[in-house]
Amino acid sequence: GLSIKLENLTKIFTDKRGNETLAVDALNVVIPPGQLVSLLGPSGCGKSTTLYMIAGLLRPSDGKIYFGDNDVTRVSPDKRGIGLVFQNYALYPHMTVRQNILFPLENMNIQREEALKLALEMAELVGISDQLDKKPAELSGGQQQRVAIARALVKKPDVLLLDEPLSNLDARLRLQMREEIKRIQRETGITTIFVTHDQEEAMSISDLMIVLDFGKEQQMDSPQQIYYNPKNMFVAKFLGSPPINTSTAEVINKEIKINGLVLDKTNAKDGKYNIGIRPEDFRIVQNGVFNFKHDEVEIEVIGRDTMIRFNFGGSQVRAIVDSDSILDKDELSIGVKKGKVLLFDIE
Ligand code: ADP
Repeated sequence: GLSIKLENLTKIFTDKRGNETLAVDALNVVIPPGQLVSLLGPSGCGKSTTLYMIAGLLRPSDGKIYFGDNDVTRVSPDKRGIGLVFQNYALYPHMTVRQNILFPLENMNIQREEALKLALEMAELVGISDQLDKKPAELSGGQQQRVAIARALVKKPDVLLLDEPLSNLDARLRLQMREEIKRIQRETGITTIFVTHDQEEAMSISDLMIVLDFGKEQQMDSPQQIYYNPKNMFVAKFLGSPPINTSTAEVINKEIKINGLVLDKTNAKDGKYNIGIRPEDFRIVQNGVFNFKHDEVEIEVIGRDTMIRFNFGGSQVRAIVDSDSILDKDELSIGVKKGKVLLFDIE
């Protein structure tokens, strides 16, 4: 694979009346070779626009795109060395699986026998080599997706671009194809950009994630870093299910305080902050911050974990604790794990 560099990449759409939409706002990103990177963010945040500019299907309003050392900003899509997979697969319905996979090789100076060999190699890579004579309509959604990936890879591109490739699959197939895409990406070592709005999908599949909001990069890092050290409240809230608990708190003499209660110690300077605590960062302790009788909270046992919901300062807090930690307890004392209160500057 090749590295991909986006330099000040910007897209402004202008409609007939002259109204402008800033869809992608000065993205500066370097994607190392051979990585699987997801573009993640809510609907309308500019993921597809970014992908289509990288693919060459949309012309940037400003900025540059490099594959390795090559500036490809003005190179046509077919000369960029990319494979593209769309959400709806876009297979040719009248062609067989074999013909679909062979299609990108047509008009290339390549022997029929060699082309067939390549197609078979791709079909084997994606696990579809026993379906070559079928038409797309005779395949399941997951199989169609495999054909689309084989077709995208048959020219051995340097870069693979996937636009919400799993969103038309049912839950079980989504999980299966997630693992398959990861495997295919590892086996080929191809630099891959994966667009999704699904934070869990992005976390499970990616080496790196780029979180976007309103066309602007919010954070780029590994899934672990982004989950545990979100840069801002938007990123903190976008990742995690159930979502992070949020409030405001005050730091006074290295203590994080909320309504007079001390949540944790910190090195942050005195002042008011937005705070976030993930549900799993609470636990049942001896002398915790939040103290309740059993009937003052809502308790939902979900196997090994138990979700406790309680009101604090007018808002509902969700805490997930070990189920066995609440057994035989009349009173629940809930603490926050050390170092787990996330502080964000109030803008
Ligand atoms: P995402 O893929 O994250 O859902 P998009 O990249 O499709 O977001 O869109 C980003 C923004 O650009 C949105 O506000 C969208 O309405 C706008 N947009 C996308 N395509 C066009 C277009 N062809 N013309 C005008 N506005 C567009």
